[in-house]
Amino acid sequence: MFLYFYFTVEGVDFVKLLEEKILKDGHVGQGNVLKVDSFLNHQIDVGFIAEIGKEFYNLYKDEKITKILTIEASGIGIACLTAQYFNVPVVFAKKTPTINIYADIYTSKVSSFTHKKEYDIYVSKQFLNENDRVLIIDDFLAKGSALEALIKLIDAAGAKTVGAGIVIEKAYQNGGKIIRDMGIRVESLARISEMTEENGVVFCD
Ligand code: 5GP
Repeated sequence: MFLYFYFTVEGVDFVKLLEEKILKDGHVGQGNVLKVDSFLNHQIDVGFIAEIGKEFYNLYKDEKITKILTIEASGIGIACLTAQYFNVPVVFAKKTPTINIYADIYTSKVSSFTHKKEYDIYVSKQFLNENDRVLIIDDFLAKGSALEALIKLIDAAGAKTVGAGIVIEKAYQNGGKIIRDMGIRVESLARISEMTEENGVVFCD
């Protein structure tokens, strides 16, 4: 019987396991993009991502979270595996509007780091309201545009952004500083201090 060892080691430093997994299975692609397709962005290692969800739960469990908000597509799996511990719904911002009536949606703009273009995101007014205490979950934090756009949707709904849970922060880019300077709590599990195609990934101490 094969069991992932991170289920069995008590008191293990999960951030170290995540860093090791990034070093082993990730690679730096063109345009300063870290590819972690084998466990996070294309194929999903459900057991491992559930452990990430547990980490976010431990960080935010006292915050009376009522909803988890993310952005399609890569955030959805992580958000769902996190939400099971909070026992709250996941709302994901859509990139293509499926609701035609503008009055029924909150919308904001993201400038995509990976695709080098601007796009709008949408959330139905049905699913965010002024009583919500929202935890944002996403895979990466780079320049902060995705997170800022999600915060704008939460603000538009009159809800409260309690904080963000990020799997990998590229700490050498300024997104983390921008969001923290807004007074928003950002918890990133792995923080990258340098990243090049030649030398790979270096983590913050
Ligand atoms: P930001 O808006 O903070 O500049 O970028 C965050 C978004 O861009 C994330 O939702 C993620 O999808 C994508 N992203 C940014 N940097 C990377 C990266 O190095 N690798 C991958 N796979 N996605 C990234």
